[in-house]
Amino acid sequence: MRQIIIAGNWKMHKTVAEAVSFVQELKQKELNPAVQVVVCPPFTALAPVAEVLKGSNIALAAQNMHWESQGAFTGEVSPVMLKELGCQYVILGHSERRQYFGETDETVNRKVKAALAQGLIPIVCVGETLEQREAGITEQVVASQTKGALQGLTAEQVAGLVIAYEPVWAIGTGKTASAEDAQQVNRYIRQVVASEFGSAAAEAVRIQYGGSVKASNAKGLMSQPDIDGGLVGGASLKVEDFVGIIENS
Ligand code: PGA
Repeated sequence: MRQIIIAGNWKMHKTVAEAVSFVQELKQKELNPAVQVVVCPPFTALAPVAEVLKGSNIALAAQNMHWESQGAFTGEVSPVMLKELGCQYVILGHSERRQYFGETDETVNRKVKAALAQGLIPIVCVGETLEQREAGITEQVVASQTKGALQGLTAEQVAGLVIAYEPVWAIGTGKTASAEDAQQVNRYIRQVVASEFGSAAAEAVRIQYGGSVKASNAKGLMSQPDIDGGLVGGASLKVEDFVGIIENS
């Protein structure tokens, strides 16, 4: 059985004060222990949020990182630094990183390997644009992104990571893929993993859905056999909304 994982991707939201008050409130809630809850604050809030989360089952994730451990890379943050702060997960290859910051399957692959080398669990994002969906090439796109991001990994490494299927047209738009459409793509991604890394890795890898997940659509999505959780943007910014998703997962 794969554990459901609900991750709140705050993107470029929340000051330290706002982030701390969010997790203080979240910590007070009785959250379903069967669900792995993850918060992904901006870099600036990671350390103070980690402090508040000590002793709780809520995990911490960063939203990006560089693949080098250290060096002359002005403005970048390394996997070693994230690990030191207590991050357990790191989002890699989010479509906003690909779209605005030039990330490619190759850079995502380097980052995935670097994260694993430091003991961080990557949440690898894949997903098609509206244009690609309309052109009927969704499967081709997610297959090549998945293979590109995971290239050179062992089956054991793949088994332990998280993939997030996030159709770009559903992110921040209020348009969710229907539970059936999302299930179909998630199932396809699992088949791609099976053909590349074997069925044990495919059965074990957790595949989230992301794109306008909210409390009202969480149940339908999470009850699909190949949807193992959600990567949540907008609806992760208020404790009440986020808890509503966890409760419905
Ligand atoms: P959204 O964002 O929930 O606001 O659509 C999801 C994401 O980008 O991870």
